[in-house]
Amino acid sequence: MMNKVGEIEFKKIRRISPSQFYSMKNCRYKSLLAEAMNKKPLLPISPNAYYGTVLHKLLELISKGEIINENDFNKTFEEQIGLMEQKLLEQGFDFFVPLQKKVKDFMMKKILLKEHLHNFSGQSQSLTRVNYIAEKWYESKDKTIGGKIDLVIEEGNKIEIFDFKTGAITQDYLDDDGEVYSDVKEEYKDQLKLYAYIYYENTGKFPTKLSLVDLAKQKFAVPFSQKECYTVYLESKNLLNTVNSCIDTGIFKANPTESNCKFCLYRPACSFYLNQIEICSTFKDVSGFLVNTLKFQNGNISAYIESGRKRLTVSNLPEEMFDELNESHTKKLYFFNLKRETKDGLYTATKATMIYE
Ligand code: SF4
Repeated sequence: MMNKVGEIEFKKIRRISPSQFYSMKNCRYKSLLAEAMNKKPLLPISPNAYYGTVLHKLLELISKGEIINENDFNKTFEEQIGLMEQKLLEQGFDFFVPLQKKVKDFMMKKILLKEHLHNFSGQSQSLTRVNYIAEKWYESKDKTIGGKIDLVIEEGNKIEIFDFKTGAITQDYLDDDGEVYSDVKEEYKDQLKLYAYIYYENTGKFPTKLSLVDLAKQKFAVPFSQKECYTVYLESKNLLNTVNSCIDTGIFKANPTESNCKFCLYRPACSFYLNQIEICSTFKDVSGFLVNTLKFQNGNISAYIESGRKRLTVSNLPEEMFDELNESHTKKLYFFNLKRETKDGLYTATKATMIYE
């Protein structure tokens, strides 16, 4: 089915969550589009990301002590997978269902997650002087920064903030001598420092340790100082003001680079990005005027579009799109989530392909 973005009504953003800060820093416009769309994505994300949301929910329930044994775990896991699949069906993303068949290492991740069960439930029963605070909302006094912290463990003067990640926590960087080294992703460092600051604003105390934990229970410390946490807080606050001031002035800026836009789910609504794909062919989205549509014997459809001086072919489109595409000749169309073939100008539709006009 052909999709339309419609009129975009920008709204001011009241608050930034620590997990959103880095993304807003990279492209302010993305945050404004997300707010305007009431955070409803215009494109599907990968099945791994949907599964990641389920895994994170389970981790949250384990750390809260709401899942304490294997039976609870299995029952809740099935329930949460069912809820997510239902949501995917409602959004028309039936091609990601069942998730078990679409996600790589589905069972392995489930097994790794189950291992966390023994971690938190065991500790919370044996150490009564330790305060476990899971999934609690914290916000700055001016309410500009707020979010739920996965877990805080308070033990006397020792306070540790944990954030759970279901994907990779580190990435490779190059040092000044050109040597590769691995370090915690910058976005996670900023996120944890913001958690530390909002925890401080709520309790009057800074944590003594910031940690990230992955599915395999590997723990990564994030070094920090109180000054750094305050600096990131000020930076976020200023960024929020700058982003909101765009709505008053009507002057918007975006940063359409491959790394920023690749996972942006608001690409169909971003005029900066849509201009970019017309001049740059490194993206997996294309646009142009539809000049012809052909149906092959196997039922597959190919659409031929003119993009500037180039002729592009999008093949493997579903049969049920034929009539609608035929009625759209001469219209400008935008195809998202394609596979780029080795031959120049040739693209193949995937299950996640969506067309906007
Ligand atoms: S598509 Fe790219 S430039 Fe546009 S809002 Fe998203 S990240 Fe920003």
